[in-house]
Amino acid sequence: MTVTLPPYEDVVARYEPVIGLETHVELGTNTKMFCGCPIDFGGQPNTRVCPVCLGLPGSLPVANKAAIEATIRIGLALNCTIAAWSRFARKNYFYPDMPKNYQISQYDEPLCVDGWLDVEVEGQIVRVEIERVHLEEDTGKTLHVGGATGRIHGATESLVDYNRAGIPLVEIVTKPVPGTGALAPIVARAYVTELRDVLRTLGVSDVRMEQGSLRCDVNTSLSLPGAEWGTRTETKNVNSLRSVERAVRSEILRQAAILDAGGKIKQETRHFQEDTGDTRPGRSKETATDYRYFPEPDLVPLAPDAAWVASLKEALPELPRVHRKRLQTDWGLSDLDMQSVLNAGAVELIEETVAAGASPEGARKWWLGELARRANEAGIELVEVGATPAQVAELQRLVDEGKLNDKLARAVLEGVIAGEGSPTEIMSARGLGVVSDTGALTAAVDEAIAANPDVAAKIREGKVAAAGVLVGAVMKATRGQADAKTVRELIISRLS
Ligand SMILES: [Zn+2]
Repeated sequence: MTVTLPPYEDVVARYEPVIGLETHVELGTNTKMFCGCPIDFGGQPNTRVCPVCLGLPGSLPVANKAAIEATIRIGLALNCTIAAWSRFARKNYFYPDMPKNYQISQYDEPLCVDGWLDVEVEGQIVRVEIERVHLEEDTGKTLHVGGATGRIHGATESLVDYNRAGIPLVEIVTKPVPGTGALAPIVARAYVTELRDVLRTLGVSDVRMEQGSLRCDVNTSLSLPGAEWGTRTETKNVNSLRSVERAVRSEILRQAAILDAGGKIKQETRHFQEDTGDTRPGRSKETATDYRYFPEPDLVPLAPDAAWVASLKEALPELPRVHRKRLQTDWGLSDLDMQSVLNAGAVELIEETVAAGASPEGARKWWLGELARRANEAGIELVEVGATPAQVAELQRLVDEGKLNDKLARAVLEGVIAGEGSPTEIMSARGLGVVSDTGALTAAVDEAIAANPDVAAKIREGKVAAAGVLVGAVMKATRGQADAKTVRELIISRLS
């Protein structure tokens, strides 16, 4: 069925979107949640398994203390209350990637509750309230082969890999976020971005969305202003920041078209389609009773010691928002300038470039100028452009030392991106340095004077401004490699 979608601006003028986000984070602990199997991405299937994570009869789980500690630190960073008493629960359902036929999760007694995370959107702070942060184990992975789409439909075989089964997984659930209006998709993206930065700062996960160590489900509903909130859908496995924004936007449009036609929204799980940017229906949404939760009898309750929690809180690192404020002050940037650095995703790159010796101004000029332009043209992220902060710092140093001018530096940068080596190496290999040696420049200056006698005459009469024409001629003759300041001095000294 093809539905004509109404324009976005029109939809958000008539309907109030409410979003909610559930984020799963694979913790970067050494071992799995309830056994001693090592954690690593990739590798041969079913090589990092044992009786516990394969759910063999008679095996017993033992909780991973490092994972509990990481979860508490996440809760603290998100301003949550850490429960003095918390329990694991069995979530019962059958799926081949979960060999026990239940997942050890947390239900009505999660480890962390009632927190918040502030995110900045278009200069405004939006406080996203956190309902809970709980700890569970990841499932294995199924791989459907033989079909065109990688999905089970049309597949001839389904394979299962249990290497991921039992990796500690933290689920972070927001409360519904109303009142963001047209900005709902951007708020969703900003929240996941900020959360990812917090998790990275805490060092609890490598938070790589493309590898699935950070996964996001997005809830979206629409209601008429002042009316009760509408039925929500849950869009699963949105695996990039850009897709978070697209998924919310596309759900807003799809639901509006149904509501406009007098239809009802079905509560269901949907899947985001990377290629088309829209969502497709999945299974209808289970309710808690379908899972028949009960306290996990093989594990003791968690009762984290208050002094331990206090010491973890004390030892939290400087969180991203505070850190960014400090950088803004250190770099002397206005709110607007800082915003463009943030929008470009260049904070860390500039920070590292400055740490490698560049001035904040020089570092910002490259990352927001030439490198941002190249990233835009290629449709890639700034970090993927192919220049490292250390290389950019070296390039800027060569400019500061007068060995390269801007034009030559851009040519050197091209070599850096092409993988030809360090800026200094490329400068000498491509013969791109600024020539400021007067001996080498005198001949070119004399040629320019001889070729422009009328201009030379003006300069002799004291009209020094005319020297620009001769400087230009020398620059052209030396293909931009002459040091303009030296050339100018030479011209004036030859003609006075
Ligand atoms: Zn194991």
